[in-house]
Amino acid sequence: MQIIKEYVKEKKDRIKHSISENDWIKMVIVQVGHVPASDRYVRNKIKDAEEVGIFCELDNMPEDVSEADLLKMLDGLNNDDSVTGYLVQLPLPKHISEEKVKLAIAPEKDIDGFHPLSKTVPATPLGIYNYLKDMNYEFQGKNAVVIGRSNIVGKPMAQLLLKESMNVTILHSKTKDADKRFYLANADLIVVATGHMHTLTSEYLLKPTAVVIDVGINVKEDGKLCGDCNKDLPVAFQTPVPGGVGLLTRVAVIDNLIELSK
Ligand code: NAP
Repeated sequence: MQIIKEYVKEKKDRIKHSISENDWIKMVIVQVGHVPASDRYVRNKIKDAEEVGIFCELDNMPEDVSEADLLKMLDGLNNDDSVTGYLVQLPLPKHISEEKVKLAIAPEKDIDGFHPLSKTVPATPLGIYNYLKDMNYEFQGKNAVVIGRSNIVGKPMAQLLLKESMNVTILHSKTKDADKRFYLANADLIVVATGHMHTLTSEYLLKPTAVVIDVGINVKEDGKLCGDCNKDLPVAFQTPVPGGVGLLTRVAVIDNLIELSK
């Protein structure tokens, strides 16, 4: 397994060279208000796009914008031929329905793959999948355990692995600990996306050959970031946090945009 930072750098170079000067690819990011973490994600997305030669525009809406006005603005983007694709940075203020917003994005412009009819796949599972594929990971017939069943990570991740003929088990908050132990002990690939630190610790018996993908982003008491898994699990490979899935997700956003431009 290649170190993710190096992999992402190489992949961005590949993307940059694959975009010709005549290709018109424009990405729009819609942000409502200013959640500090979102500000950082948005800055990174703009930086990523610019690095590979994609034009990126940020449409900032005030915190108190009405749901109706936001939906009207999205309708404008849906009908703007100069826009290849766009995304709405989550979370949104409480008075705006995220479900309504996800459904208002035209599937053919949906960078994040949140609309049920979208041809793109949510960026986090896509980024993980692309990385494993590029590492020539042999999926077929192996046991995958995905912990977490959200619509943007767990479920699409499981679907991608199933498509590669893995034996996929999804665990969630109602899974009994004894069952979790049973499935984990037989897992070749473990993807953890719960949003809770210590979901996977060395208390669980794991295969020494297992690959662990840690999706979680949690903030510790000292303000530092950590994943859903304890560090240094006794496995063959474990993605770090930070410097792991977050980077894969960022590059998959660009992959999705290029897919929409085709
Ligand atoms: P989510 O919508 O809150 O879903 C969490 C899932 O984990 C739910 O299905 C929940 O089960 C399950 N769960 C919670 N506690 C559990 C436990 N103790 N044991 C087993 N399952 C448990 O979260 P999400 O959007 O999928 O995100 C998950 C984590 O990934 C978060 O930390 C988020 O910040 C991070 N994330 C990172 C990136 C990145 O780019 N690195 C991208 C997206 C998300 P139930 O369904 O039973 O409630």
